[in-house]
Amino acid sequence: MSSTRTVEVSVIDYQKLAWTWLTPSPNTMILQPATFCPMDCGYCYLPNRHRKQDMSVDTVEAIVHGMADDWFTDKPVEIVWHGGEPLAVGVDKFEELLQPFEPLRAAGKVVQRVQTGAILINDAWCDLFKRYEIDVGVSIDGPEHTNTTASIAVGGRCSPGSSGALRS
Ligand code: SF4
Repeated sequence: MSSTRTVEVSVIDYQKLAWTWLTPSPNTMILQPATFCPMDCGYCYLPNRHRKQDMSVDTVEAIVHGMADDWFTDKPVEIVWHGGEPLAVGVDKFEELLQPFEPLRAAGKVVQRVQTGAILINDAWCDLFKRYEIDVGVSIDGPEHTNTTASIAVGGRCSPGSSGALRS
């Protein structure tokens, strides 16, 4: 004999549950400034990586406006620019997106991070990273002989070993 057990969770219960999981003071906020990724890996989990759709400055301003005062403790909130490939927005646009955070960064309330495949890094990016004190995390999926095979790197690109700017 089989039986079915129904568990009812009301919307209000769900919201309460969610608030017990979410910290009121986030340590990290992850932002995706671009949908496009030039690497186009065969195993990519993102369906819209071929579409070029960048985050707007208005969106960043709304995000900054929505950061509540009690987010800011003695530790700065990490703003992590992630992807896709966050550098696909280009240096100038990326710098525009950083501006709404600048008063908070100057006050020591946020720090900037970027997580990148690094193939787009050049001297202009390095200059921007220095000026905004951006810590750079590099995603490396494997050695070149494994990540440039046709079955893995559909776009024919590999992760970052070839970036001269990265080495220097
Ligand atoms: S680098 Fe990441 S986001 Fe870009 S195509 Fe590869 S798996 Fe997708």
